Amino acid sequence: MSEEKFFKLISGVTVFEKGEATTRDLLLAGEKIAAIEKPGKIKIDGLEVEYVEGAGLQVIPGFIDPHVHITGGGGEGGPATRAPEIQVEDCVSYGVTGVIGLLGTDSVTRHLSSLLAKARALEIEGLSTWVMVGAYNLPTPTITGSVRSDIALIDRVIGAGEIALSDHRSSQPTFEEFIGLVAECRVGGMLGGKAGLANIHLGDGRRGLDYLFRMVEETEIPPTQVIPTHINRSRYLFSQGLKWLEKGGYFDLTAMPEPVEEDEVSVLQAFSEIKARGDYLHQVTVSSDANGSLPVFDQSGRLVGLTVASQKDYFRAFQELVRQKILTLPEASQVFSTNVAEIYKLKGKGTLRPGYDADLLLLDGELQLKYVFSRGKTMLANGQIKARGTFSARK
Ligand code: ZN
Repeated sequence: MSEEKFFKLISGVTVFEKGEATTRDLLLAGEKIAAIEKPGKIKIDGLEVEYVEGAGLQVIPGFIDPHVHITGGGGEGGPATRAPEIQVEDCVSYGVTGVIGLLGTDSVTRHLSSLLAKARALEIEGLSTWVMVGAYNLPTPTITGSVRSDIALIDRVIGAGEIALSDHRSSQPTFEEFIGLVAECRVGGMLGGKAGLANIHLGDGRRGLDYLFRMVEETEIPPTQVIPTHINRSRYLFSQGLKWLEKGGYFDLTAMPEPVEEDEVSVLQAFSEIKARGDYLHQVTVSSDANGSLPVFDQSGRLVGLTVASQKDYFRAFQELVRQKILTLPEASQVFSTNVAEIYKLKGKGTLRPGYDADLLLLDGELQLKYVFSRGKTMLANGQIKARGTFSARK
């Protein structure tokens, strides 16, 4: 179907090895990175190769966005506020080659079977996808009858979430209900050879992370079995989050539109504080919450409508973190890609290494996307989107 060549040689591109910039040639073979070598060392004879000029560009692993409402979220303002599905082009334009899809508040008109089908569709269209079973409420919806067997038996399922705590939209679960869910995730993950993480949505209720701290105090479950998200939605929650990092736990920051609201902590501010606190960068991920619904306010702060959250603010946060020297480019790519692959145990992802998937972003000196490859497929070239969803208009 595609005229793309199986072999691609990206020449003279800047790569980061142990944080140090160096010039390399990259050979892609089908969906994989075949070699990363000194310039000129890779010789190919008798094979058709597509050449990509990498001089002046820097290459990092494709972003993996760990919290995306791929089937559309929202719905809290009635049926007309159900947000639409995400499209492959939406992800590619912001450097996202992998997504973890999940449901949210609405487990009535949204279904796990549709979530799974949408994840498979995005995979066919060129991305890499995984899903969490469940939704806000406990007991939470499943595909096979239990969270444990969903994670153990269904390839694409790697955990459960987003389960809501400390939120007026949660099912107000007891501690026992919460811990039962985390236990299901843990055992399902063990049986399936997966991370089996419980992705925990935090609202702005004053109970904050209390259940998570109790879990560590009162049970045998390690803090790394859960990943709380939206941790930067309030100053109080974020300060609890910093304590959670000290306990060895992970957390996920949500990239929100700027300027953030009064009590929110921007992703930039969050990383300044995390770095000042010590060596915690490998415990943190960033996500977009894309295709949830977002309120739109006018200048006087009046609610004037709803829009769909996108990965735009997520990509902008990445650019600004590097531009403002809060993180180096290798640190930012660790947070936006490598950490997600390691925390969620996504094999062959998040690192540029021979044998790993060819998910690559080529950025210019201004951190603009010039090329995106996803499992070796050209999704964006010369700054132009090439990826097309099945129903997108073709140029
Ligand atoms: Zn959420």
